[in-house]
Amino acid sequence: MEPDKMDENDWKYHGEGNKSLVVSHVLLPKVLRLLKYPAEDSENPPQTTKQAFRQIQNIVDFSSNVMSSLLGDKFIHSGEVVKLPLEFVRQLSIKVQHQRPAWRCDKVMDIYSGCALCLPNLTSPALHQPSHAAPLCIEIKPKCGFLPSSKHVSKDIKTKVCRFCMHQHYKVANGKWKRRSLYCPLDLFSGNRQRMHFAIRHLIEEPQNNFKIFKDAQCIYSSKEGADDSLDLTSLLHHLRPYFLYGNARINSHMTNKVVLNDFIQVLVNILLSTGGGDGGVVMDRRGEGRSFCDASPFNRERIQHGSQGLPTSSVLSRILQTQMLDSLDIEGLFPLYHRVEQHLLDFPKERCRLQIDGPYNEAFLQKLQKCPTEDDGSVDYAVTRVHQYRVAMTAKDCSIMITLVPSDEEEEDKDGLSTQKRIRDFLLSRPPAFSYSVSILDLDPKPFDSIPRQLRLDQKIVSGYLRTGGGSA
Ligand code: ATP
Ligand code: ZN
Ligand code: MG
Ligand code: MG
Repeated sequence: MEPDKMDENDWKYHGEGNKSLVVSHVLLPKVLRLLKYPAEDSENPPQTTKQAFRQIQNIVDFSSNVMSSLLGDKFIHSGEVVKLPLEFVRQLSIKVQHQRPAWRCDKVMDIYSGCALCLPNLTSPALHQPSHAAPLCIEIKPKCGFLPSSKHVSKDIKTKVCRFCMHQHYKVANGKWKRRSLYCPLDLFSGNRQRMHFAIRHLIEEPQNNFKIFKDAQCIYSSKEGADDSLDLTSLLHHLRPYFLYGNARINSHMTNKVVLNDFIQVLVNILLSTGGGDGGVVMDRRGEGRSFCDASPFNRERIQHGSQGLPTSSVLSRILQTQMLDSLDIEGLFPLYHRVEQHLLDFPKERCRLQIDGPYNEAFLQKLQKCPTEDDGSVDYAVTRVHQYRVAMTAKDCSIMITLVPSDEEEEDKDGLSTQKRIRDFLLSRPPAFSYSVSILDLDPKPFDSIPRQLRLDQKIVSGYLRTGGGSA
């Protein structure tokens, strides 16, 4: 990327989250991820260029040295920090402004630092040949997939209803979303096909910021505040139909919609349970057993026909769940340790560096957090390691999975004469059609040390709100 050749006309709005805005190149499979900050600060950038550069370098290091080792490097693309001309960034921000959803506009794009993260565009896979059907990409932000079992948990409800489901009540009560999502992460992470199917169906019904679909690198399905949801689903089915309707299954449109949606979800479940041929694929992760149901999920446990198989240990969901479980104390058990570190830093500010509070996120950081003693010896080093583990778990609770589907080359299959037979068999067995696929994990930013007190307050607000309004009765 040559700074003097940067032209805003080569880039277009791609999407955004709470922390960053993403633009994609119109021809090359690349995106730029730019930082955002609160609109009230728009006149006064909260950090210098040097600090912004450091922040993005920290994201790259955290992703490549820490998260990729925990989650599996085959899933991770860490990207690189780039410096951009300020005039380019300014023009870009004007260009994309009108495409941004109104509910995200409480933050503005950083136009002062000229720094960004350059990543491969995961929605426009390189293996796709332009002559074939466009690739589909499905983005799932699964959130936390387990119930805390820490002895420090003070409210019993936290061991029965998962954080996501409680948070839904809170968000609806506070007007963040109009309707509650019936998606429950414990269903998705269960490894049970029926429950996973159920979870994905509810992600589609109420995507909020947990589900998006891209076709040919364009977002074709996501939450749209105020839009007519039924229309949205109709248009989604219209997009999906050519990929999933095969043979002569055009019986009637109601039936085909159901078939198309089921096949689509089936493909996603299969991929999420796949192991990508890696090692340890058949070993099932049974750690999640015990209390693996959330009382708020509407999934009817009596419907389970096949017992839970658990997640294959090298599947993407298992890797994410294992990393999330580094939060073994719960915020309630972690907070006193955070406090110990905070006190220590007040007395010895220079220790911030040695304890790697704000990085560097290198090999030493990873080793420290992997060799943590289980017993608290009262030391600052113990406390800081637990805090680091908690922060890593928070990142794993906030990441997204991107599944890329590239329709298989049917003509290629025709040449070896198997295609027609195979398609008839697929049709008779109502098997979904073949795709080649890849799975990635994105959004692996380190969570700041100072965000921990906010986590405790949020936890208290969500739990007390749930007990007051939603809980039990809903
Ligand atoms: P969050 O609020 O979830 O923390 P964030 O502000 O950290 O989000 P990202 O999730 O990294 O930002 O990016 C925002 C969106 O941009 C993603 O949800 C995804 O749709 C898109 N995106 C990010 N990185 C890529 C990529 N490498 N390829 C394609 N799309 C991407
Ligand atoms: Zn739940
Ligand atoms: Mg995100
Ligand atoms: Mg993020």
